[in-house]
Amino acid sequence: MKKQAVKPVRRVGASPEGEVARAIAATEPVAVKKRSGKTKNPLLPERVAAILDALEKTYPGAVCALNHTSAWELTVATILSAQCTDARVNLVTPTLFKRYPTPKDIAAASLPELEEVIRTTGFFRNKSKSIQGAGRAVVERYGGEVPQTMEELLELPGVARKTANVVLGSWFAIAVGVVVDTHVLRLSRRLELTKETDPVKVEQDLMKVIPETKWIDYSHMIIQHGRQICIARKPQCADCTLEKLCNSGDKTWSSH
Ligand code: SF4
Repeated sequence: MKKQAVKPVRRVGASPEGEVARAIAATEPVAVKKRSGKTKNPLLPERVAAILDALEKTYPGAVCALNHTSAWELTVATILSAQCTDARVNLVTPTLFKRYPTPKDIAAASLPELEEVIRTTGFFRNKSKSIQGAGRAVVERYGGEVPQTMEELLELPGVARKTANVVLGSWFAIAVGVVVDTHVLRLSRRLELTKETDPVKVEQDLMKVIPETKWIDYSHMIIQHGRQICIARKPQCADCTLEKLCNSGDKTWSSH
């Protein structure tokens, strides 16, 4: 039997109606039509501006979640964050940076000892080689200071565009690209700002549609949104500030 379309319930803030809507959304079968890619022109500057505006109101002052006090610490923390949560990295880095405070210290460290300190971040053998290699390169080529250009950063072991963009954007406030991590990739696709799946191509798409002045903040805000609301398996659409702008096929609730 064909399923009856259920009239969606409009969310009304934290009011009783809103609570009812969320309760229904949580218990009813998905009441939204398959609508992926249904926005007439998802790349219209007005739409992109509305997305950025909503994100800025919801996540004012969003910053990188990796704890750090220098460009070097941020470089190391970002290398360690591959395939690992920021929370886990933040548990490991205090010990790491206390034991090896500078690039020179990590460059001279015993690899097995380094591996032991960062073991819980996963892929610890490769990551140890990367951060030690990066430490050596920073000492030998840049006098112990993390370089400030994309080209130079990409020469460091373990550093690809994502890490370089994190360091340039979050520490040096230099926007040469957009950080594309798992959240940015997933949400940018849900919001139809890209159809690509390769992070480098996603970044190129985002750089075309997002104003350069917002490149750094977009990633910070969208990462928070991906962690708190637009969760991979069960997006909390009834509580989403972007809901009216979103036509993702993954929606669990819709007002339009
Ligand atoms: S409406 Fe749902 S799918 Fe769309 S951005 Fe919000 S939480 Fe994600």
